[in-house]
Amino acid sequence: MAEGRISELALIERIRRGAGAPVGPVRVGIGDDCAILAPPRGHEILVTTDFFLEGRHFRQDWHTAESAGHRCLARGLSDLAAMGARPLGAFLSLALPRDYKMNWVDGFLQGLQTLAGRMGVALAGGDTAQAPGAEIVADIVLVGSAPKGRALLRSGARAGDRIFVTGALGGAAGELERMAEGQGGCNGPQSWPEPRLKVGQALVRRRLASAAIDLSDGLSTDLLHLCQASEVRAEITGGSLPLHALAGERRELGMHGGEDYELLFTAGPEVKVPAQISGVQATEIGLMVAGDAGVFVDGEKLRRGGWEHLRG
Ligand code: ADP
Ligand code: MG
Repeated sequence: MAEGRISELALIERIRRGAGAPVGPVRVGIGDDCAILAPPRGHEILVTTDFFLEGRHFRQDWHTAESAGHRCLARGLSDLAAMGARPLGAFLSLALPRDYKMNWVDGFLQGLQTLAGRMGVALAGGDTAQAPGAEIVADIVLVGSAPKGRALLRSGARAGDRIFVTGALGGAAGELERMAEGQGGCNGPQSWPEPRLKVGQALVRRRLASAAIDLSDGLSTDLLHLCQASEVRAEITGGSLPLHALAGERRELGMHGGEDYELLFTAGPEVKVPAQISGVQATEIGLMVAGDAGVFVDGEKLRRGGWEHLRG
């Protein structure tokens, strides 16, 4: 065993201790062949899985280990948030290169566990292996639940529905630019995205939304996905986009920048959408109309694609 590294068994034991005793919906957690989750009565199960690859979704010279762990879990939680689900358990598959640094792994797990604790979800299992190459490979699986038939889909928007986004846009892209210029992170939404679980659950509980998606690839790309699934056209008012301070006045960052993990949702014409939902600002940015799926900004069709994560 090389210095700073521990055996796979010892690593899993370390992860198990960090995860603590099973709580809430996790009846059996880390340590058996499967986890056992107990969904609330009347709910159905939602599952999402996301790669988190070094060089593609994070960089050790740009993100701290804690930020990487946070972002890994946030990716999965944000998908649950988009559908209005609550988390039941998280699963982490982790492949570490031969010469991995234990310090990094500890920081990564700490970042992940801190967010997990705050969001009320337990790490309930995973897998650990040696990576074939020099890069860290992670995959995060989130299992959640929502009241039967009530989860928010991308396909639920209708002509006449208004379009809303939560929080502010372009902050993660603005922060990433600083990182690329060697200025490091600045504790913004690129480093510490906040999955909007409470907002998503409120949208379901209060029957506010007809459709929703989370903004991982950028507004232009994700809104187009929702339009395609719903077979409607989106008309956006460019000046209405709520821009994050780290985006400055640059609307293109709000329009195309990825990894903000805010929610985009639509609401029927008769629905009163409050200015804040679960303490998060909701801003109306446009309207769904009949027509071929597409996104129009101030009357002009958007052609540029969204965000390619670190590859810009
Ligand atoms: P198996 O051979 O049955 O897959 P493992 O030795 O891979 O067993 O895992 C033992 C236990 O540790 C399982 O409960 C598994 O879910 C958990 N586990 C393994 N790796 C991780 C990880 N990276 N994060 C969380 N739990 C893990
Ligand atoms: Mg295994």
